[in-house]
Amino acid sequence: MSEKITDGLSRSVQDYLKAIYYHTRCGEPIGTVELARTLSVEPASVTNMLQKLVAYNPSLVEYQKHRGASLTAAGEMVALRMIRRHRLLEQFLQEVLGYSWEMVHHEAEELEHVISPYMEDRIAAVLGEPLYDPHGEPIPNRSLELFVDPNFIPLDRLQAGDIGRVRQLDGRQEELFEYFNSIGLQLGTAIRITQRNPVDGTLRFVLDEGADEQVIGPKIAQAVLVELAPLPEGGR
Ligand SMILES: [Zn+2]
Repeated sequence: MSEKITDGLSRSVQDYLKAIYYHTRCGEPIGTVELARTLSVEPASVTNMLQKLVAYNPSLVEYQKHRGASLTAAGEMVALRMIRRHRLLEQFLQEVLGYSWEMVHHEAEELEHVISPYMEDRIAAVLGEPLYDPHGEPIPNRSLELFVDPNFIPLDRLQAGDIGRVRQLDGRQEELFEYFNSIGLQLGTAIRITQRNPVDGTLRFVLDEGADEQVIGPKIAQAVLVELAPLPEGGR
């Protein structure tokens, strides 16, 4: 059913629903000013659009001026459909067309709005119903269920001495991809935290037990999810 709704919507509506989805995942509505900043549009046009999305049949957004916006069940289904298409496309671009992982996001942002439900279906089938995209982000399944692995912890929450492996990168932070590549931080890279600055949260770490110590700030560290290595027998 969400296919029918999704394919009748404009690109800009689809982008609004995705943006609201990402911002409200933790349960809090998003304000118009923040939404305007995210989408690089004027707050006035955000208010207009939100009213349109509320009036849509079925209603896609809940919006109250002083509380902000969140998605209805129908709006969430559209957002998840778009995220599924996006991540399937990224996986297809990498696996079948040989794109590097840092190139796929940009292309998928365009293609997600134009492929048909049939093409979405064929891509998923040809790839063998993949669970993850090239950034390690989970792909919503055919029922649009999204599995979030509770063992993947944002890098900014790790402490000195923690060791683990990089499992997921925030696929929307394109501007960081080249930087991650340049320091050798990719999916599967082993990471060991050597120091965490208690005042500003700056982290120092080594990758794959290399010689160079890397330093990043807490904001960038949020874009990296790490699975901690199991503690040794009788560990802390
Ligand atoms: Zn992407």
